[in-house]
Amino acid sequence: MNKLFKMRYLILRRITQIGLLFLYFAGNAYGWNVLKGTLSASLLFDKIPLADPFAVLQMLSAGAMMGINVFIGAAIITLFYGIIGGRAFCSWVCPVNMVTDLANWMRRVLLLDKTERKVWVSRNARYWVLGLSLIISALTGLAAFELVSPITIFNRGIIFGMGMGGGVLLAIFLFDLFGVKNGWCGHICPLGGFYSLIGRFSLIRVRHNQPNCTLCMKCKDVCPETEVLFMIGKESTTVNMGECVNCARCIEVCDDDALGFSIRDFTTRKAKGEKQ
Ligand code: SF4
Ligand code: SF4
Repeated sequence: MNKLFKMRYLILRRITQIGLLFLYFAGNAYGWNVLKGTLSASLLFDKIPLADPFAVLQMLSAGAMMGINVFIGAAIITLFYGIIGGRAFCSWVCPVNMVTDLANWMRRVLLLDKTERKVWVSRNARYWVLGLSLIISALTGLAAFELVSPITIFNRGIIFGMGMGGGVLLAIFLFDLFGVKNGWCGHICPLGGFYSLIGRFSLIRVRHNQPNCTLCMKCKDVCPETEVLFMIGKESTTVNMGECVNCARCIEVCDDDALGFSIRDFTTRKAKGEKQ
């Protein structure tokens, strides 16, 4: 099969991620009015407000006063990912995903997964960090995660210049490469956890067609959230867990046409905690 076709979603995701960063940069540098602001709060075509709902929640916890446009912007994003995209923000929009995907790829090339010393960090840690961010925001009166968020650092770095923020991104890269597999995005990032929660019942899902599966497990090798693929080789159903980032890497690496995009299957079990 054509190599480019096997990377079609990966190429589309990179075009989207880099394209969005460029539009934010152009909004500041050249005054383009397609996207102005940052991923935390922006204006589309100078008219439609968009806001990161987790950042808005932190600001609410911190007691900040915000205009109605911020709430409308947060509602638009919440509805989009909640009904349609699931956790797609993480693989199609977030710039940090390019850093962590690179680390994951290098782990596979350097065979680090095979020789890895087990460093245990629960995948649920991100939900604790999420809660802690809101508590610290309430206690300090500051949007806590926003102050240290590598997503904001990357986004602002492209628009206004990277400076010391590059060190944070390098630390995440090294942590994912030599420390914990998919350590930042799959274990710690509270924004990823937040989108896992609001995207839990979204419609666009990967579907597994069990009769076609040859149990090669290539999908599980590349999946950043392996546990969401618990049904591989066992049953035909959609990947319903909110932690799936809809990156489509599993679809691309499958040579047996056993995975593809589909609409959520509401007739089967919900998934998490209901593994066979
Ligand atoms: S988990 Fe966090 S850093 Fe990773 S892609 Fe999602 S929002 Fe970005
Ligand atoms: S199941 Fe597929 S689409 Fe979902 S995170 Fe894993 S590789 Fe990406």
